Amino acid sequence: MSSRPAHDLLNRVFGYDDFRGPQQAIVEHVAAGNDALVLMPTGGGKSLCYQVPSLLRDGTGIVISPLIALMQDQVEALRQLGVRAEYLNSTLDGETAARVERELLSGELELLYVAPERLLTGRFLSLLARSRIALFAIDEAHCVSQWGHDFRPEYRQLTVLHERWPQVPRIALTATADPPTQREIAERLDLTGAQHFVSSFDRPNIRYTVVQKDNAKRQLLDFLRGHRDEAGIVYCMSRRKVEETAEFLCAQGMNALPYHAGLPAEVRAENQRRFLREDGIIMCATIAFGMGIDKPDVRFVAHTDLPKSMEGYYQETGRAGRDGEAANAWLCYGLGDVVLLKQMIEQSEAGEERKNLERAKLDHLLGYCESMQCRRQVLLAGFGETYPKPCGNCDNCLQPPDAWDATIAAQKALSCVYRSGQRFGVGHLIDILRGGDNEKIRQFGHNQLSTYGIGNDLDARTWRSVFRQLVAASLLEVDSEAYGGLRLTDASRDVLTGRRKVMMRRDQAPSRERDRSGQR
Ligand code: ADP
Ligand code: ZN
Repeated sequence: MSSRPAHDLLNRVFGYDDFRGPQQAIVEHVAAGNDALVLMPTGGGKSLCYQVPSLLRDGTGIVISPLIALMQDQVEALRQLGVRAEYLNSTLDGETAARVERELLSGELELLYVAPERLLTGRFLSLLARSRIALFAIDEAHCVSQWGHDFRPEYRQLTVLHERWPQVPRIALTATADPPTQREIAERLDLTGAQHFVSSFDRPNIRYTVVQKDNAKRQLLDFLRGHRDEAGIVYCMSRRKVEETAEFLCAQGMNALPYHAGLPAEVRAENQRRFLREDGIIMCATIAFGMGIDKPDVRFVAHTDLPKSMEGYYQETGRAGRDGEAANAWLCYGLGDVVLLKQMIEQSEAGEERKNLERAKLDHLLGYCESMQCRRQVLLAGFGETYPKPCGNCDNCLQPPDAWDATIAAQKALSCVYRSGQRFGVGHLIDILRGGDNEKIRQFGHNQLSTYGIGNDLDARTWRSVFRQLVAASLLEVDSEAYGGLRLTDASRDVLTGRRKVMMRRDQAPSRERDRSGQR
């Protein structure tokens, strides 16, 4: 099919001059009746990929989306362009729903957005059987993956579409960049025969920075000072921390709101509405916030705790800078985060296979955090993409970190773990290394150990950095029984025997005033 009609429609209806990136190829492929799996970063322009073919083909384009809140906005925007679009979900009253159904049957609708649970009802499926369908668009297709945090069981049943309407093209879309998840989407949605359209996941306008946690609140304030009156999201690990952080920021005179699944639905809806409509709101949130949030001018995404995976981190930071203007992705993490997440994995009820996957995911993320290489290169490599040269727009590119030969320090730390019985946490291990004198040291007779006081050459902060990097590199592991206790791993032996050298990243001193002039 010629690209003319598609292009004309893009100009005439949507008012855009040209397709972006792979949009045109996708539109033509789907408009010609073929299946597609589209992997495109947030802000890449996925909506047009099904909206344009829906208008080009006979019948109604059925868009399956789990994001009820967003359907209304999308439909509203389409109506403004003169497109006959409607949505069906639980928020509609009976009368309106009945009208929408009549319009579907009589072929008046160009696009119909529907929630998956609604689509799967016998009533709706029989309605579809009596309608003309242009295509099925399955948005947020990663919801079919049980490994992701957006898993929706109903997505598994969407194969019914292909079984009942094999001749209707399907297009599944996601901003998930992780290759295993991509494979799972193709399998679960019965799209293995579909053409895959994979865009680069690079977000060039996002500047990535990782800092080592020292005094998290002060570090957050420091970071936010570079974003006065700008909108952004601060992700926290727990609901309690979300509320604390929001209160703390408000007390500092900032415009912060909390968002997590434990808040009443009205409060969540109101806070989300304010974040979208008002200027300069800081949303303090758990990962319950964000999927499908279409706010172009989010200037920063800050993580005050370690996210659960690289994929999650990419998705969360991807909410910054959708307008293409400079934005910051800032992550503050420390040893405590690593210990906590490792423990959560070990103590979870999940099977061994799942645990291994989660361990691998966490290790990838830790590799990113501790890396001395360009962050963008590490980030994209995890998604199977090669970024040719250092990006020049991440902390490691802008301020190359110092590396130091930490072999001897690592040996001291590891032998201290070994000699004290492989069950103590970092605080106590550092006390032993630095020859501290306290009750616990005396109680366990740790002042008698050969490693007592051998680490006086380094300060406690540097030791914490050493332990953090040893855990991140799996040269030490967290005991899932004893709270925060550290144990040697198989790999530790090579360090202890001197067969393996250990290079470490020198953490930036907390007091060092960083030059922020180049930040924005
Ligand atoms: P995604 O769903 O992939 O996150 P959207 O479909 O919401 O992205 O598009 C992101 C933004 O880019 C929207 O504001 C949209 O209007 C704009 N956009 C998409 N395609 C084009 C295009 N070809 N030309 C200009 N703007 C576009
Ligand atoms: Zn870089």
